Amino acid sequence: MNTYTRHSIISIGVVLPLIQQQELARKFESKRVSINDSPPVFLNSLRLKTFAEKGTVCVGCGLSADYFAFERDVKNRENAPYHLNLWGIRDNSGRHILFTHDHILAKSLGGTNDLTNTQTMCCDCNSKKSQQEQKVAKIIEDLLKLWRHIGVPEATIPELKQFTINKLLHMVLV
Ligand SMILES: [Zn+2]
Repeated sequence: MNTYTRHSIISIGVVLPLIQQQELARKFESKRVSINDSPPVFLNSLRLKTFAEKGTVCVGCGLSADYFAFERDVKNRENAPYHLNLWGIRDNSGRHILFTHDHILAKSLGGTNDLTNTQTMCCDCNSKKSQQEQKVAKIIEDLLKLWRHIGVPEATIPELKQFTINKLLHMVLV
């Protein structure tokens, strides 16, 4: 559960071009910026770049995001800085759902932490996918022990591992 405190909201159409500009203009600079009179926020996170590059529709359920909000999580840090969160409203329930950047191939399964391996996803779909990926990661962990125990040649293990990950993901994520 998040415990976000909201400062204000801002339209997606205003924010996305700023993320793209930031990416071009400040490639090597990491600095918080203020949008109009907003609290200063980073615009160059992988999460925000994913929204700008891959769009603001959940690849899982097709929910379209509706707005960005300047929010901070004060649960563990009283003066935590603000950041931009992307939210969508579920039509049937009216519930506001946070969006995130999903790793297409989970980092725990060897996926990279860059734009080639991220996609836009709502947190509902992301948490379902994460649970399935954790199960796959656990099976792989057990299989690795088994393969080594029964003397599968070390040189063949990476290929065997990749093949099994692909098979298992295909089975659980369809
Ligand atoms: Zn979704």
